[in-house]
Amino acid sequence: MLKKLQELENISRKLEPSFKQRQVLNKEITNYTNDFLASMPDAKMYVDDTGTENPFDNFPISEKPLALDFLLKKFDDLVLNSGINASSQGHLGYVPGGGIYAAALGDYLANVSNRYTGMFFASPSGVRMENQLIAWFASIFDYPKTAAGNITSGGSVASLTAVITARESTELKAKDFDKAVVYLSEEMHHASLKALHLAGLKECIKRYIPCDQNRKIIPQELENQLLSDKKEGLKPFMIIATAGTTNCGTIDPLEAIGKIAQKHRVWYHIDGAYGGLFALCEEGKQKLKGIELSDSLVIDPHKGLFLPFGTGMVLVKDAKKMLAAHHFTGTYFQDIDLEKGEYSPADVSVELSRPFRGLKLWLALQLHGAETFRACLEEKLLLAKYFYDELSKIEGIELGTFPDLSIVTYRYVPKNTQLKLKEINKLNEKLNQAINSDGRVFISSTELNGKFTLRSAILSFRTHKETVDVLLGILKAKIKELI
Ligand SMILES: *Cc1c(COP(=O)(O)O)cnc(C)c1O
Repeated sequence: MLKKLQELENISRKLEPSFKQRQVLNKEITNYTNDFLASMPDAKMYVDDTGTENPFDNFPISEKPLALDFLLKKFDDLVLNSGINASSQGHLGYVPGGGIYAAALGDYLANVSNRYTGMFFASPSGVRMENQLIAWFASIFDYPKTAAGNITSGGSVASLTAVITARESTELKAKDFDKAVVYLSEEMHHASLKALHLAGLKECIKRYIPCDQNRKIIPQELENQLLSDKKEGLKPFMIIATAGTTNCGTIDPLEAIGKIAQKHRVWYHIDGAYGGLFALCEEGKQKLKGIELSDSLVIDPHKGLFLPFGTGMVLVKDAKKMLAAHHFTGTYFQDIDLEKGEYSPADVSVELSRPFRGLKLWLALQLHGAETFRACLEEKLLLAKYFYDELSKIEGIELGTFPDLSIVTYRYVPKNTQLKLKEINKLNEKLNQAINSDGRVFISSTELNGKFTLRSAILSFRTHKETVDVLLGILKAKIKELI
């Protein structure tokens, strides 16, 4: 037995590389990431190739150790050579992600030290760090000190947490779900709908409130619907507004909706996954006025704070409601000191064990200072206006509404054209493909009132005026080629 133990120990110990080995490994990874970042400005932004076969079919998990340089080469060949180069300056489609370096270092630190931040007692000050971050974000939205929150994997899980909190905070019983009414709009992100389904609320009544020509919820329509539902004996339960829609980046009239929610005592949820963090800069803060009236709010630091994927956040104005909905073992609950804000992530989320997500957020904010993020967000707002202005100078460009935030919609309609809607749609679809096939930028599209519309979202921290000018240049050239 002792011999076998020794044998197994010798193998197990390989999981702990020596200082020298770590130096070699770190150097290889650093060299690789440095090369990756150096080649980024010229790398193809988008490779439209989902492949005919799965390359991993020929690359099974190995019984024997493989060398890091070999594996990095495989990663390069098999993973990085297709799809969207999501951290590139040219990513102007969907909602661009981030990938700031400081956050990668924070994750490295979190993973090596691997503190257990599920429960307060296991890492008191790891949890305090996260709760300080949550309180800091809550203060940006003028939430009171009684607010709580959770750093989630993204906006979707944050939405689920908010919906569960809303559900549990009402007197609503499962048998009444088919009488509960949720108020939303067609412009809402499907993540909220998915959250309702996952929270067991599939059967609730969904009222799609009409929007104005800027695709914003019309408050009066909302109130009329609420009143008529109440009259019918239904149970108005939740209003979902969006602070920056994915389609056009528009902000619903947050303040007017908030007043209606308060008047009728309906849970007010705001999805700010794309737009909420613009509140960090003055202009964004003004535009998001009324966001403080919400009962729950979703923001996505992996969008609006340029962090790598895996960082979302939910904020709930009344900590007690969030705790009541999620805590599971009563004994832990008694230990929570809400005054000190020392609740555990496990008490306000679906998770128990979890990554120490707060560390990358903290390191990034502290290393660069909040002012750097404010400036970067202000720059994005200004870039969208610049892009909009420049587009208006191009003959044949039909512009969508002036951007509330950093998403611009537009399409090309030849002057004095005889083309029908369907043909103009086809033309713009072609234009979209032509722009993306250039490889320097990636834009996406949407359909607005039956019109195929081009859509550019400026949110990558690497996108500056230079890239917007590149897109304008490509657009002009491709229009010429098409006509
Ligand atoms: C991205 C987004 C979501 C979903 O968030 P994930 O982080 O992708 O889970 C929800 N709502 C809006 C408005 C979004 O932009």
